[in-house]
Amino acid sequence: MPRATCPVCDAELRLSASEAVFGRRVTCPECGSVLEVVEEDPLELEEVAFGFDEDFDEDEDEF
Ligand SMILES: [Zn+2]
Repeated sequence: MPRATCPVCDAELRLSASEAVFGRRVTCPECGSVLEVVEEDPLELEEVAFGFDEDFDEDEDEF
C-alpha cells in the first residue's frame, strides 16, 4: 500500500491504490487537514488551501 506523510502534522498516511492518484484529495485522519496528491512517485501530499472560495473573493473586492 502506498504511504505518504501528512505535511501538516507529519503523520504517516496509508492510501489505497485509488487514492494515490495525482490530484486526488484525501483527509488526514490525524489532524483533519484536506490534502491533495501532488506527486505519485514518490507519493507526496500537499495541504489544500481554502482561501479561494467564491465568498472569499467577494470579501476581497470590498476590501
Ligand atoms: Zn495530518
